[in-house]
Amino acid sequence: MPIYEYKCKDCGSKFEVLVYSNSEKVICEKCGSDDPERLMSGFAASGFTSSSGSSCGGSGGFT
Ligand SMILES: [Zn+2]
Repeated sequence: MPIYEYKCKDCGSKFEVLVYSNSEKVICEKCGSDDPERLMSGFAASGFTSSSGSSCGGSGGFT
């Protein structure tokens, strides 16, 4: 399961969330803001698209 790191724009706190689906709503656990910013933390940083990518891989070379 993908874990994403978020930073709240309102209170500035960072937290990690297990995201089960792309449309999952993430809420800041500190202040309750429903629009935290997703950080690209290390992995899956390249070629990231917001659309649900059913075709994985591309230029990976991972079998
Ligand atoms: Zn917050």
